[in-house]
Amino acid sequence: MSEAGRHRDDHRLVRVTIEFLSTVAGYGGRRVAWWLALTMASAVTEGIGLVLLVPLLELTGVTGGGPGSARSSALTPLFELAGMRASLPNVLALFVALVALRGLLLRAEAVAGGRIQIGLTEHLSRRYYAALASASWRYFLRSRQSDFVQTLTSDVRRIGHGTSLLLRVIVESSMLIIYGATACSLSPAMAALAAIGAGLLLVLQRAGISRSELFGSKLSSSDRILYGTVTDHLAGMRLTKSFGAEKRTLDSFRSALAEISGTQLAFQANNATAGMVSSISGAALLALLVWFAFATLQTSPSRVLVLIFIFTRILPRTTNLQRDLHLLAHCLPAFASYSRALQEASGMAEPRSVSAAAEAAPLLLEEELRAEGISFSYDPGTPGAVLDEASFTLPAGSFTVIVGESGAGKSTLADLLMGLLVPDSGRILVDGRPLVAERVASWRAGLGYVPQETFLSHDTIRANLRWASPDATDEEIWESLDRAAAADFVRQLPAGQDSVVGDRGSRLSGGERQRLALARALLRRPRLLILDEATSALDVDSERKILDAVRLLRGRMTVVFITHRVHFLREADQILSIQGGKAITVGAPQVVSQA
Ligand code: ADP
Repeated sequence: MSEAGRHRDDHRLVRVTIEFLSTVAGYGGRRVAWWLALTMASAVTEGIGLVLLVPLLELTGVTGGGPGSARSSALTPLFELAGMRASLPNVLALFVALVALRGLLLRAEAVAGGRIQIGLTEHLSRRYYAALASASWRYFLRSRQSDFVQTLTSDVRRIGHGTSLLLRVIVESSMLIIYGATACSLSPAMAALAAIGAGLLLVLQRAGISRSELFGSKLSSSDRILYGTVTDHLAGMRLTKSFGAEKRTLDSFRSALAEISGTQLAFQANNATAGMVSSISGAALLALLVWFAFATLQTSPSRVLVLIFIFTRILPRTTNLQRDLHLLAHCLPAFASYSRALQEASGMAEPRSVSAAAEAAPLLLEEELRAEGISFSYDPGTPGAVLDEASFTLPAGSFTVIVGESGAGKSTLADLLMGLLVPDSGRILVDGRPLVAERVASWRAGLGYVPQETFLSHDTIRANLRWASPDATDEEIWESLDRAAAADFVRQLPAGQDSVVGDRGSRLSGGERQRLALARALLRRPRLLILDEATSALDVDSERKILDAVRLLRGRMTVVFITHRVHFLREADQILSIQGGKAITVGAPQVVSQA
């Protein structure tokens, strides 16, 4: 890698690390402060424990002075202050008390750290999900579903891991500082030398840490491919089986998986190399320090022993620190990817500034809905708009059929009527008042929509219907099932309304699913009911029943029926034909049947 490229990577790494740190601190400032206090306290107890080794060694007579005499303990004044002698039993008792205190602090620190990690993971998931829930329909049209799942699962999980690594890095670093300070109190010269050496060791790791981050980025994109592959395969399983394409799907799954394994392996190898370099250079540094201590410093043997002990503890901590830095760098791209996804979703939020005036006066559709010269294009700026200055009127309580060739723009028009899409120009007026962002939420509360692709969740019929109208009673549910020509088949099911429909309604026929979807829309008692090719999977008999039901709704609600079936045309009050982006009111049904 070129020097400029490395600098760029370093900058990115530093920037993401700072963002990550501020997210962690911003999420739980107080929790982090508490955890930090516990960490510092436990590090200090460890430091005191180490200094206590000097009088301990002297008192036990291991290092000159003879048993029972502690000449040079830095802690002697402390004992005197407490009115105690620095005798062996006292020093030993203090030692045990310190270890017990440290044990308690470590436990509290682990719980506090866990709270930060788990809490942050939950917080980030909630934040992203909330951003998704309020993102505009347009955003979903151009995004891939599996990317959302990846952000919510893989990215968030890796960020959680990264958080615990970040905390560990802080612990390791503070421990190193405490060890350094302790060593400094025993021999400043040796401590300075050790600090320079440890600094050099970390600088040596710079390139390796950048590589770890690169592997982390690769893992994010390979994950994305894997999630996309699996989602597509599961969604298209019936087709896959009917085409006998299992092997092909298995192959593409394997290759996505192999890419991930390759990246992970390369990362492991990189990490192992770094670990090896770190322990070899660390051992060399330790040897140098011991030699330096013995050969050049006039230090007491007990101090030299403790110093060596301290440095042998510093060494694995430095190795741990570098390992954790590598792992953290590996996790940071997940945070970068999460931040990007969150920013994108938040940037596409639906305007929801519901003004008090709009709340007070919801759009009721009591007179008419009028579209005035609405134009819409999925790619503004490119020629060929889907709708090009289309104008029409839907009188309240009327039954309008919308016809047009496939791809003419019928579903797009339905999305515009629901306020899911916003016209590039022109406007939609309900009872003379424009359908603007502020009124969209209350407008949708009065809508019933039945799409061609019904959406049912793996739950009971009752739960699926109540999803649209949570307060509906069983009687109201039966009534709407009846109106949607679905009551008979539901009654025949062994569990009635309690029957589970299967994943996405897979235990029902296409026609049954559509009738349930219609019943669900009717349960809302909508002011405007939009059916988008909603009877395409019905047999003639069921379709006839729905048609009769819709005819009965006439006058009670405004109905828009998107269809290509001619016999509906006879039932309609008016017919809109979408042609070349225009909505042409064809007029009386008889005229169309003759055409
Ligand atoms: P219809 O319902 O009449 O079959 P649509 O409203 O679904 O037609 O589509 C109208 C046109 O808009 C088609 O040319 C289609 O390719 C295009 N279109 C539909 N959805 C999208 C989308 N999400 N992004 C870009 N173009 C789209």
